[in-house]
Amino acid sequence: MSNEDLFKTYTKSGGAKCPFCSASSAKFYYNTSGSAYLYTTGLGAEVPIKCLACLAEWYDVMQVVSIKVIRQPARSPMELLKIGTLAEDNNE
Ligand SMILES: [Zn+2]
Repeated sequence: MSNEDLFKTYTKSGGAKCPFCSASSAKFYYNTSGSAYLYTTGLGAEVPIKCLACLAEWYDVMQVVSIKVIRQPARSPMELLKIGTLAEDNNE
């Protein structure tokens, strides 16, 4: 099966089933501290997934498509410059 076919099969199940064997036992890889591995690649990320039924492994490839503000800055950029937490642009 081509990568494209695997992707179609996988997304059809909403990422809930292994694209190889259709088992719903695909799991994120976790490191020893218990958080999921995440390899960031600029405006994207790759999360390693393993199917515990057939032992196939793949990456879920994520892409940043938007941002969602959680909190506006507490200080303005000018205030940050004054207290020295924001580096001044000296390229001129
Ligand atoms: Zn599988």
